[in-house]
Amino acid sequence: MREAKLSEKLPGSRVRCHTCQWRCTIAPSKSGVCRMYQNKDGVLYNRSYAKTSSVAADPIEKKPLFHFFPGSLAFSIGGWGCNFHCQHCQNWEISCPRAGKPWRSSSEIQPETSIAMAKYYHCQGIAWTYNEPTVWFEYTLDSARLAKEHNLYTVYVTNGYMTPEAMDTIGPYLDAWRVDIKGFSDAFYRELAKIPRWRGILEVAQRAKDKWHMHVEVITNIIPTMNDDDQQLEGIANWIKDELGELTPWHVTRFYPHHHLGHLPPTPVATLEHAYEIGRKAGLKFIYTGNVPSLRSENTTCYACGQLVVQRFGYQTSVVSLNGSKCKNCGAELNFRTPERESK
Ligand code: SF4
Repeated sequence: MREAKLSEKLPGSRVRCHTCQWRCTIAPSKSGVCRMYQNKDGVLYNRSYAKTSSVAADPIEKKPLFHFFPGSLAFSIGGWGCNFHCQHCQNWEISCPRAGKPWRSSSEIQPETSIAMAKYYHCQGIAWTYNEPTVWFEYTLDSARLAKEHNLYTVYVTNGYMTPEAMDTIGPYLDAWRVDIKGFSDAFYRELAKIPRWRGILEVAQRAKDKWHMHVEVITNIIPTMNDDDQQLEGIANWIKDELGELTPWHVTRFYPHHHLGHLPPTPVATLEHAYEIGRKAGLKFIYTGNVPSLRSENTTCYACGQLVVQRFGYQTSVVSLNGSKCKNCGAELNFRTPERESK
């Protein structure tokens, strides 16, 4: 148990949590939407500090992050719970822990140990992933601070629903914001995850980039009949171009039937190709199709000279022609974060 960093005391021993944009008001002995923050006698606590669900040394491409330390290993660590309850969640066993509360008996990895493990497994950084990292905010904050002291990069793999004040608290210690923009309409976010005010996700992603200079990549899992219409895909692509910039990578990934959406078909390859074209038309320079390894757009090619820059097949990555963040052949800026660029 750790006392929450971002809470507000209310009359009647109630508390309000300001960690994510739900801003739950929580009565004594009750928990918020994510079930990971609990009001004990008028004080808000996070009850999953350091309790882990999954740990692995993953290729950074698996997050997916394609323009961030390509070919590196990220020590990937997940906790329990989520502030979204998406109908197609791939990780629902850890994001919706049930009454049995498996997280109570899970292994504890304190921040200092996670740094030591990252080094032991030859990882260049740490990624908080698998479940939503915002719901064990205090743990990720302590770990991120420590990681920066040890020259490790830090990555949030997130649904982006953190509050601006949480962003400003952890922003100085985060290097990359890999954010889902799941769709682009009120109706879609409400239907998928009962999220009422999803546009705050866009504002916080912009804040990550503009205020805290994080590397940002966006992912959209395209679900047949739910977010595969041109209006939403164009909305996402145009927003990325206008607000994050044309060099921001956009990953459009294939949906596979899962959890409460088992009745829907997998995303047709033609839909992914169409989304790719929508991204191109919007002016994005880097669109990648995911979960379909045979499609062309896993590689990075320089938009200016056509040179192959990074070759990827599955999780095998070869950096072919990169000089810092630029194309080695023609010098065009390609928006890569690399060890060479960071040391300049
Ligand atoms: S982190 Fe959890 S308790 Fe806090 S506002 Fe979000 S859902 Fe509610």
